[in-house]
Amino acid sequence: MQYVWGFDEANADPELIGGRGRSLTEMTALGLPVPPGCSISALACRRFLQTGDLPGDTWDQVVTHLSHVATGNRPPLLAVRASPPATMPGVMGTVLYVGVTDDSYPALIEWGSEEFAADVRRRFLQGFAGTVRRVPRHRIESVMAEVCQTRGAKDPAELDTAGLVAAGDAMAALIVEESQRPIPATLEAQAREAVEAVFESWDRRPARQYRRQRGILDDLGTAAVAHVMVFGNAPGESGTGVAFSRDPVDGHPMPGGIYVDGASRPRSQLLYPGIAELDTADHVAHRNLTNALSALEQARREVVRVEFVRERGELWLVEARRAEQAPQGMVRSAVDMVDEGLLTKTEAMLRIDPEQLDGMLHPHLAPHHLPTPLATGAAASPGAAAGEMVFDADAAVEAAIAGRSVILVTREALPEDVAGVRVAAGLLATHGGGTSHGVVVARGIGTPAVAGIGNVTIDLERRQMSLAGRSFGVGDTITIDGSSGNVYAGSLAIEPPVRSPALERLLEWADEVRRLEVWANADTPEDAIVARNAGAEGIGLARTEYMFAGERLAVVQQILLGADPGERAADLAKLEELQIGDFERLLEAMDGMPVVVRLLDPPLHEFLPDRLDVEHDLQLRRDQRLPTEDLERLEASLGWHEESNPMLGLRGVRLAVVIPEIYRVQVLAALEAVRRRLDAGGDPQLELMIPLVGLPEELFLVRDMIEEEVHYAGRLLELAIGTMIELPRAALVAGDIALGSDFFSFGTNDLTQTTLGLSRDDAEEAFLRDYLEQGILVSNPFRTIDPDGVGRLIEIAIEEGLRVNPGLDIGVCGEHGGDPASIEFFHRAGVDYVSCGPPRIPIARLAAAQAALRYPPPVVPDPAE
Ligand code: PEP
Ligand code: MG
Repeated sequence: MQYVWGFDEANADPELIGGRGRSLTEMTALGLPVPPGCSISALACRRFLQTGDLPGDTWDQVVTHLSHVATGNRPPLLAVRASPPATMPGVMGTVLYVGVTDDSYPALIEWGSEEFAADVRRRFLQGFAGTVRRVPRHRIESVMAEVCQTRGAKDPAELDTAGLVAAGDAMAALIVEESQRPIPATLEAQAREAVEAVFESWDRRPARQYRRQRGILDDLGTAAVAHVMVFGNAPGESGTGVAFSRDPVDGHPMPGGIYVDGASRPRSQLLYPGIAELDTADHVAHRNLTNALSALEQARREVVRVEFVRERGELWLVEARRAEQAPQGMVRSAVDMVDEGLLTKTEAMLRIDPEQLDGMLHPHLAPHHLPTPLATGAAASPGAAAGEMVFDADAAVEAAIAGRSVILVTREALPEDVAGVRVAAGLLATHGGGTSHGVVVARGIGTPAVAGIGNVTIDLERRQMSLAGRSFGVGDTITIDGSSGNVYAGSLAIEPPVRSPALERLLEWADEVRRLEVWANADTPEDAIVARNAGAEGIGLARTEYMFAGERLAVVQQILLGADPGERAADLAKLEELQIGDFERLLEAMDGMPVVVRLLDPPLHEFLPDRLDVEHDLQLRRDQRLPTEDLERLEASLGWHEESNPMLGLRGVRLAVVIPEIYRVQVLAALEAVRRRLDAGGDPQLELMIPLVGLPEELFLVRDMIEEEVHYAGRLLELAIGTMIELPRAALVAGDIALGSDFFSFGTNDLTQTTLGLSRDDAEEAFLRDYLEQGILVSNPFRTIDPDGVGRLIEIAIEEGLRVNPGLDIGVCGEHGGDPASIEFFHRAGVDYVSCGPPRIPIARLAAAQAALRYPPPVVPDPAE
């Protein structure tokens, strides 16, 4: 069985030689300067890890290959490196300078110098000690430190020849002492130990952890490569570097990278200063390098990153791989490559992970030198924000008026916080999950948010938070990163969102191919305008309860709590007046496009005052002997309304059964808004949506009421009436529900909550993380649709709904409407549109295009042919 392939053997199995082996083989075939060598199969690694021995004649094959390798006139040393199936930077074994023996040492001196030979020997022994013989790192470091100290050097780079020799001797003694075995005296024996150590590194903890994070399978094993050592530290014109075929940050189509001269010790930590140093030092090597980058880019049709060595003026490439790019670089290079004829538009669209666009659409932390976060919670709304802490919405508004940047810190973001969320730079909700209502609002308007950080105490009354052993109060600055969920002390540097003409073009291409329409969840005209500018084709969900932020909230509270019919009538009149203006402006902002207004759906615990607060105020007033009747009435009323499970309580359409006037008033307000828009010459396309329907009769009740009113002000006003499907029962009886619906909109947040029986407010913070870590769930079902459970219900509902009402429009307005993997599911399930928060519209447009490209409609044979 063949376990070893030379880099010049184009028939090597690409699955078995790993990324580095593939790149060295590919570069050899392209005629690029690659040090000769061979790849050793990942199969050999797998067997080695099972049995502790290399299988069959693997080692003979390696020896045979290497005996044919020409080393030129340089000393025959080897580099042995891992070649895993996917890049695993920093966690796999590498052994360089293999082959320093009594025989080769004089040759090293002759080819280089005494100092060079001593340095090579010291480097080899140090690597051999750590990677091969597993000498503890602290032992190696203390021995090196001792030598350096005796010789008056700060580090090994400062040692002179005698010092380097002494360091090598000390290292050799340490290896023997620690491993109780001699250092092999031949290249071949050293190389065998090195290869086995590289294989073993696959099973070590850092590699296993890395694989778990990236979803790389444990049983793949790693290949290894062994090639002739080229010396970036050789005396003369030598050095090493990393180069990119285009700028990995912004995608500018010019090669760049870093080059560190071998004679001077590593000194530059600068990123991408350009490889101008090399161009100045050696124009030919620079030209060869840029030509190689261009040849590789043409062959691979992707932006490449190469590691190179310049040895005495000669260029060598030791690895090529796909460059990791910032999102804007990725978009720009993909679009440029279409213009250059390297890629088709389809390829360009498919190669960009829509989720990564988030990184360019929001303010983000400057990537370098981030401190350790204080805590990490749910990445609830992307983007970074820094500011002074405030603990209530009023303080946020006040600070915003004064032009200060603030982070609103709350326990859970509630409707009373919405006014604050709108003006704050960021939201930190210490408790709750990513689909808690208030966090959904933050995401909808693009305010960065972190939720549910755990291990925190927060005292809203005293306006203090203690976190990671530190105490924070009003005015202290923090930084939150809603893309990672991290919270930092102090104010970190934040970079603005990136404006990208390339992204505009990419999204235009996406619009040409997608079947799914992309609508937006938006509750205010301002958000609607943002959504429209981002490409939204309608409003799929205007949550009317969020039109009642701040002072207006009191009106809703009184309607819900008030016992006196006279008072309630007055409050309802107020509600109607406010809503007419809200709806009119929303319809105006979206003129000519559908606007789905959802009738009120207020989970009572979010909308009513906290009973403990009221009791506290009551006690204060009693102590001060102030009148307490109003508060007593409020307390009694709250007690009457208290629910143990409010998300399953008096919400949505149930309200219409208990207090029918509320929906009637909203309907009248919406119709009046339509009338006004028509009179103003507009094209209002109102759709009314009824939430939390589980029984068809609930829907018919509200539909009848709406139909009673549509002959409004002397004319018949046209509007669509539909329902949310957000309870399992609704999905199962969707055929009956479709009898009274012009459209369905899947409320996948509640549908997930009720299908899995997982509280959307508590589960993410409380235990979902354990489920994900233990692999019981592969993804967070509040982010990516659970295809087998929730998804199955969606499929049933669509099938049943269309059977009864083939003209039914079908949308999704839960948070999943902006999640790429879920969008693919909705495309395949036959949904007509997804609706998501305005900031996610570009992501949804691209994801919808990818779904259409991956799953085109079946070709129906033409019967005439
Ligand atoms: C849903 O449940 O998916 C939905 C959109 O409604 P809300 O999040 O307002 O409950
Ligand atoms: Mg809902």
